[in-house]
Amino acid sequence: MIINHKCENGRLIVKITPENDDPNTHTIFNSTFKTTATIGMDSNQFEIHLPSDWTIESVHPDVFALAMIAAIHPFIGSTIRLPRGVSPNFHNLVKRVANKRVLPVNAELSPRKAPSNAVPALTFSGGIDSTAAAILLPENTHLFYFDRLIPKPEVKTLLNQEAAYYACDRMAALGRPVHKIKTDMQYLRKPVGFNSYLADAVPPLLLADYYGFDSVGHGQTLEIGYQIGHLGYKDCKKTEVGDPWFKLLTAVDLTYTLPTIGLSEVITTRIVNNSSYHEFAQACSRGKIKQPCMNCFKCFRKSLLEKVMRNQSISDSFLDKLFNIRDAKIVLNAPPPIYFASILAYITAHYNGNHPKMLALKKNVRGDTLQVDWMNKWYSKSQEFLAPKYRNHIKQEILKHVEPMTPQDIKTMKQSFSKSYFN
Ligand SMILES: [Zn+2]
Repeated sequence: MIINHKCENGRLIVKITPENDDPNTHTIFNSTFKTTATIGMDSNQFEIHLPSDWTIESVHPDVFALAMIAAIHPFIGSTIRLPRGVSPNFHNLVKRVANKRVLPVNAELSPRKAPSNAVPALTFSGGIDSTAAAILLPENTHLFYFDRLIPKPEVKTLLNQEAAYYACDRMAALGRPVHKIKTDMQYLRKPVGFNSYLADAVPPLLLADYYGFDSVGHGQTLEIGYQIGHLGYKDCKKTEVGDPWFKLLTAVDLTYTLPTIGLSEVITTRIVNNSSYHEFAQACSRGKIKQPCMNCFKCFRKSLLEKVMRNQSISDSFLDKLFNIRDAKIVLNAPPPIYFASILAYITAHYNGNHPKMLALKKNVRGDTLQVDWMNKWYSKSQEFLAPKYRNHIKQEILKHVEPMTPQDIKTMKQSFSKSYFN
C-alpha cells in the first residue's frame, strides 16, 4: 500500500494506492447478527481536519505510520510505503508483531519519546462507556470526538451527532479539554465503519506530538474487550481490540490505556449515573439531545439496564414498545448467544414482572439461573491496559465504585459465557 498526503491549513488529505498484494476485500464475522460479511475498500482517500497550524512535521514519522496502519489495517498486504522514513525500531516491531514491512526506513531516526510533561488522550463518543472512561482518567486527559464528515450529500445515514456535540460542549464547559475532529475516514470502507479498534484514535495519534500525549485509549468494556456474552471469553491482548495495537503503541511511547476494559456495562452505567456527567451522556447515536431514538438495539439494552440500575419498575407497556423495535427483534432472534447476552442476563435476573417476551428472554439468556453478581465487580487482570503513570489514579477511581472480582467470580464469568457453552 502506498500512502501519499497533502496538508493545507491543517486539513490533511491522505491518498491510498493499493499494490498488487493488497487485498481489496476481507471477510468479517458480525457477532451481533451472527453473519459473515465482506468488507471492501470504497475510497482511495480520506481527509481529516486538524488544527490550522498542524503540518506533517508536527508528528513523528513512526506515529504517522501507526495512524495510517490503524486507518486501513485489513487492506494492507505485505508492505506499507509512506512519505517519510520510519525508525528501524518501529519497522522491526511491526514486522515482528504484524508481519508487515513499513518503508522506507530512516536509519538515522530515533524512536519517538513522549515529553516528560505528557498527558493522556481518550477517544470520546458522548456515550455511557467513554464518559465512564473519561471520569476514571485524570481531568487533564484530552478527549477526542470523531466528528463524521459525510463525503457526499446524497449519502443516507441514521447517525445524528446532536447529542454527542452536546456532550462534547458540556464536557468542555466543565473544563475538560475536548477536540471535535472532522473526518470522513469511516467511508474508506463499505459498509461504512472503522477498519480497526485503533482507527477512532487516528486523530489523537496525529496530534500526539502536537499536544504531547503518552497514552491513547477508548471506552470499550469487558463485553467487547474480552468478548464476554457474545463470542466466549478471550484474553483482550489476543482479540482484535488488543492485537496488534497493545504492542505497536509501545513502539511510539504511547500506552494503550483502556480504563473500562475490565468493567461490564453494568458498572459503566453506575459510574456515569453517580456523576454529574449523567445529564449529557447518551448511548444512542441516532437520537436527539436527551432523546434517544428508542428504535435501536442499543436503546433496547441501555434503557433496560438504566431502569434496573436505578431500581425503577419496568412496565409492560414500556416492554411492548421495546420488543417491537425492528433492530432489537433481529438481534434477539439471531443464533445464540445473543449479542451482549451477559448484560441481558443481568437485566432479566433483576426483572420480577410477568411480561411474556421478557420472561422468554430471561430463560433464553439464563437470567433465571446464572450468577450475575460478578458484573458488579472489576476484572483486575485488565490493569495491564492502564499506563503505569496513570494506573494508581485509575485504580483508585475504579475502586470507589466497585470491588475486584474474586477468583470464584472470574471462574463464574468465564464458565457462564465460555465458547464451549455456546457450541
Ligand atoms: Zn437508539
